[in-house]
Amino acid sequence: MGVQQNLKFDALVLGGGIAGLEAALNLAEQDFSVAVVEKDASIGGKMIRLSKVFPTLDCSSCITTPKMAAAAHHPKVTLLTYCELQSLERRGDELVALITQKPRYVDLEKCIGCRQCEYQCPVLVPDAEQGGLAARKAIYIPFSNAIPQKALIDPENCILCGRCEKVCPTQAVDFFQKVEDFTLTAATAVIATGFEMMPLEDKVQYGQGQIPDVITALQMERLLAPHGPYNRVLRPYDGKEPDSVAFIQCAGSRDQSMGVPYCSRVCCMYAIKQAMLLSGSLPLADLTVYYLDIRAFGKGYEQFFQNAQAMGVNFVKGKVAYVEPGEGGAVRLRYESQEAEGGVQVVEHDLVVLSLGLLPGWTPGASCALSTGADNFIKTVKPKLAPALTELSGVFVAGAASGPKDIVDSIVEAGAAAMEACRYLAARGFKAAG
Ligand SMILES: Cc1cc2nc3c(=O)[nH]c(=O)nc-3n(C[C@H](O)[C@H](O)[C@H](O)COP(=O)(O)OP(=O)(O)OC[C@H]3O[C@@H](n4cnc5c(N)ncnc54)[C@H](O)[C@@H]3O)c2cc1C
Repeated sequence: MGVQQNLKFDALVLGGGIAGLEAALNLAEQDFSVAVVEKDASIGGKMIRLSKVFPTLDCSSCITTPKMAAAAHHPKVTLLTYCELQSLERRGDELVALITQKPRYVDLEKCIGCRQCEYQCPVLVPDAEQGGLAARKAIYIPFSNAIPQKALIDPENCILCGRCEKVCPTQAVDFFQKVEDFTLTAATAVIATGFEMMPLEDKVQYGQGQIPDVITALQMERLLAPHGPYNRVLRPYDGKEPDSVAFIQCAGSRDQSMGVPYCSRVCCMYAIKQAMLLSGSLPLADLTVYYLDIRAFGKGYEQFFQNAQAMGVNFVKGKVAYVEPGEGGAVRLRYESQEAEGGVQVVEHDLVVLSLGLLPGWTPGASCALSTGADNFIKTVKPKLAPALTELSGVFVAGAASGPKDIVDSIVEAGAAAMEACRYLAARGFKAAG
């Protein structure tokens, strides 16, 4: 890929998750040219990595893939994947973004996604796309419905054996690719950089990722997904089907000591969803959710919660204080019960899922003229009447970039941000579709 000095678009969308794709498509349908800048090798954000979605239990990849494909095929949308934003500033009427294209070591134009390189690669490393529960090669396409369907090399693990280069039918492998910087100018921008989950290592009292059968909720999404690591739900310790699964709520949210005093908003609902899905795949297993409050705030969510109770999911009100390894791969929980029995209780489960807090996906540094609120998410200046407005004129925010949010709210906010961006462009003489 050559150096692109200056790309010019009507709008820049930072982040190719569901909020960014929705905002980009709304803008493109109004005939504005849009660049979607995504730091990962594929668009799709967290949603493409989920199993099914509450409250409808739609297959997540079945409803996300068409949106990804629509963005990829839209003549007004340009996808710039594997790109990092270095700085963003306003210069007169223009926003100027400095962006770094990270090297894939595979020529994007030449790669035909045939995976011959992947089949020949002798290196196996944990696959982050599968929560580290399966392996991938050192040259790989991130996942089966990734967009673009192009390979990349992980330089940390590549042993430079050259097998991929020899087998590639289009000579796409390029070990000499370098980091390239380019500038991108646009009149308006939508920030849709989403969230990350709190690292497991930060949870000292929950084993810091050292107990194999204490996993994150995103790992459980992969275990439940049709193309998951094992194609069924097995516990990582010994590959056995778990007889009892526990969910620990507020594992990092509403916790001053972790610097996350806020509620992460989606954890109650996704834990209920995962427990319901498990009751289908492990019909004989005991499923317990340890919670402080259940926040089922959205349309249809309370009914969803009640359905889970009717299906036999056990809800125990109590704060889990400590998690430690038990006998034969079991996990021991100490919790303070707020049920009738009260007091400190000790129980064992085969598999424990942590509903970790949600943190901002991206925090603008000093080189980006945007600021964050007390929660470190992108600051909005009119949270009631115009929730997409940021401090920087012409820059709007959508989805979990401004705070934890479910898919419905992310989509709604993406529409609002795109509408604000359209109005901003129209006021400056840019022409929308008639
Ligand atoms: C375990 C779990 C289960 C969930 N289940 C459900 C569910 O069933 N139903 C539901 O409604 N919600 C669910 N959610 C919430 C859902 O994932 C979010 O609502 C949704 O992903 C928000 O979309 P987004 O586009 O705002 O953010 P994201 O999905 O996080 O996408 C943000 C994108 O921006 C990119 N990015 C970040 N920083 C940069 C940067 N500096 N430059 C370029 N790109 C960048 C990221 O790589 C990513 O692709 C769940 C969440 C979790 C953790």
